[in-house]
Amino acid sequence: MKVPFLKTAAGYIDGRWLPARSGQTVPVHNPATGEVIATIPRMGSAETVEAVASASRALERPSSMEQRQGWLTAIAQRMLDCKDDLATIITLEQGKPLAESRVEVEYAAGFFRFFAAELAALAPRQIPGPIRDARWTVHSRPAGVVGLITPWNFPLAMLAKKLAPAIAAGCSVVIKPAAYTPLSALAQCQILESVGVPGGLINLVSGDAAPIGRVLCEHPSVRIISFTGSTGTGKVLLAQSAAFIKRLSLELGGNAPFIVFNDANLEPAADALLANKFRCAGQTCVCANRIYVQRDVAARFTELVTARVRQLNVGNGMEPGIEIGPLINRDAWDKVASHVTDALEKGARRVAGAEPRRPEHDWGSFYPPTVLTGLTEPMRAFQEETFGPVIAISEFESEPEVIGRANGTPSGLAAYVFTADAARAQRCAAAMQFGHVAINTGTGPTPEAPFGGMKQSGFGREGGREGLHEFCEVQTVATK
Ligand code: ADP
Repeated sequence: MKVPFLKTAAGYIDGRWLPARSGQTVPVHNPATGEVIATIPRMGSAETVEAVASASRALERPSSMEQRQGWLTAIAQRMLDCKDDLATIITLEQGKPLAESRVEVEYAAGFFRFFAAELAALAPRQIPGPIRDARWTVHSRPAGVVGLITPWNFPLAMLAKKLAPAIAAGCSVVIKPAAYTPLSALAQCQILESVGVPGGLINLVSGDAAPIGRVLCEHPSVRIISFTGSTGTGKVLLAQSAAFIKRLSLELGGNAPFIVFNDANLEPAADALLANKFRCAGQTCVCANRIYVQRDVAARFTELVTARVRQLNVGNGMEPGIEIGPLINRDAWDKVASHVTDALEKGARRVAGAEPRRPEHDWGSFYPPTVLTGLTEPMRAFQEETFGPVIAISEFESEPEVIGRANGTPSGLAAYVFTADAARAQRCAAAMQFGHVAINTGTGPTPEAPFGGMKQSGFGREGGREGLHEFCEVQTVATK
């Protein structure tokens, strides 16, 4: 085992660290170097059934709100105490620069801290009355066993934003981390164990996504599936769970517009774009994907962006000074390359970024930060998320035009608007069909606020009070 901090790379069921029943394992690679950093159990449906049974048993011993609050606070603290170890694990398995991984640990810990404080929102609510001669009370009950399926781009934070409210609500969980990045989730379980969260309340199965997902969708004890990942997999989960009337919370892909009006302060807008676009090498669902710049400032804004992009350092995220790590694998690299080729063939121009060489292996997929201009809607880079370090710029003339173009996508996750006109900013926000709209900032979600998609970016919210209620059942009690 070449990963610090982790005691073992095993599944976690009923408080025990376990191999797969078959004894089979899957390697975990460092995407920067190809090195095998660990092997994890290749579990499937049998282990998932076992994990669900363990989670169901744990619900027979309900915890008090004070107990849960204590766990959440202790988890947040322990994560911060272990920040460097956790950040190292994230970088080793995911590839992002170490500095970004540290921020991810703080962000992830923030969900435990926030939901510890937000637990009071679960107190029963009395409806003013009496009504029909009775006293009416609304309770937020734990939903039951929940399945948490997480992606590889934020292996710690994407789990934290589901796990913290699930624990707060009194649920028990079965976690299925992404196969590329399971170690952060194992480290998270190790932390939960170390602060005394009872075995069985939290379970983790690693291995084959399809059979694990099917059990979570079909098992009657699993009441909610909270998933972050591709729209395609979201549709599979919806279809598989339809016959079982499961509640789902789906955070799917985006295609974020980033709009710069001619009255915007261009320097901070360029800084915000770089920070937003190149986080995790452009592999986040809130990354600006379609950059719309008003025509009279397009040349100047492109210049500011290009100058900044040329300074970026690409490489192994463990090395000092690196700002952009590798893409997760060669498929991701191929997708980015195909978007760039398609745009260039259809008339776009590359104004920054070298012609890249295709990686020889599934790892080492470093894509040079690139700026393209002259984008139009039919190009693939505007049709779907590129999920890579490519800034794709298009010009626009008017506010109604750009709002129409921004909304002209099946996705509706994040959008960004830069303007000095406060009235216009509010008008744009109201007109935009996106769950997260940021004005004069490139910020993504925060633990304190609800975050989620409209349209095909999914439904349900993570973070904020809304994120807590995702894991509750509302029960109304009328007492005479
Ligand atoms: P990406 O293409 O970005 O890897 P995915 O949607 O495939 O996104 O992956 C997100 C998460 O969903 C991962 O944990 C992955 O293992 C899991 N996953 C993929 N296919 C299925 C499936 N059929 N059932 C359940 N989980 C799945």
